[in-house]
Amino acid sequence: MLYGPRDVRFEERPSPTITEPTDAIIRTSAACVCGSDLWPYRGIEPIDGPTPMGHEYCGIVEEVGSAVENIEPGQFVVGSFWASDNTCPICRAGYQCRCVDARPMGAEGAQAPLLRVPLADGTLVATPEIPSDDLVPSLLAASDVLGTGWFGADAAAAGPGKTVAVVGDGAVGLCAVLAAKQLGAERIIAMSGHEPRQKLALEFGATEIVTERGDEGVAKIKELTDGLGAHSVVEAVGTQESMMQAIRSTRPGGHVGFVGVTWDVQLPGMELFFAVVHLHGGPAPVRRYLPELIDLIWNRKIDPGKVFDLELPLEQVAEGYRAMDERRAIKTLLRP
Ligand SMILES: [Zn+2]
Repeated sequence: MLYGPRDVRFEERPSPTITEPTDAIIRTSAACVCGSDLWPYRGIEPIDGPTPMGHEYCGIVEEVGSAVENIEPGQFVVGSFWASDNTCPICRAGYQCRCVDARPMGAEGAQAPLLRVPLADGTLVATPEIPSDDLVPSLLAASDVLGTGWFGADAAAAGPGKTVAVVGDGAVGLCAVLAAKQLGAERIIAMSGHEPRQKLALEFGATEIVTERGDEGVAKIKELTDGLGAHSVVEAVGTQESMMQAIRSTRPGGHVGFVGVTWDVQLPGMELFFAVVHLHGGPAPVRRYLPELIDLIWNRKIDPGKVFDLELPLEQVAEGYRAMDERRAIKTLLRP
């Protein structure tokens, strides 16, 4: 529970119960702290009293409501950070994050041993069997950071023959590097000034590292691309500087996939007009990608769980937040 700025507490709460017939209750195998959890943690996003936290989850189904047809107790499941019906026209077009009945999982509080998942049939995807323990971090990553990085790369039209630049070296940016590699990008430029993150970016498939940021970072991307800019740029931070860095690093006709939460970002109209770039982004429709991502993880083709460089028991959740806030950890995994 978050009580106020930098005040996270581990405490007993009532167990969730089935409140709608489309719900499931899952026992979480692992949960984690998201970069976006740091916005309320730092007091930038106001909260209204003590607030349950966490929206990334995977685990074993304990119980399902009477209207749930495809998910059953005993299955290991992964879900998106938005619950969705997966049947409305928006979902069918692949934008489950904006389902007409979308429910934010953060409201349920996934940093807990038990979690209610609304719209279970449309939200959860079951693995073929109960996974071995070493696959759990990667399956958990699919719930948000991998799915979000994947959407960023997909929205940036990463693919064969493309030069992809990734702005942001948090877990999402690193997963966007991994996604660009899987999507067949020719060159992948990771923008990071932080040595351990550069190392993971290279492991995930980056071919070049740019340490400069802001205008100097843009100049470096231009220098590496015959003065043109990258075909595809993923924005995975969400600040004014990083958004402009992404747009200015993209060549005319190129694509920007923006997945960092754009707090107070203002786009200058005339610069945007003459940039002639595609802009696509927002909260990732993770549910669209989950079956494919689970398959890649299950067959050990990708290992996004490497973004977790700190693992703690759930009762030490406060230290998990502190480590990420102070950039001592890329991402904290919590074991209930
Ligand atoms: Zn829907």
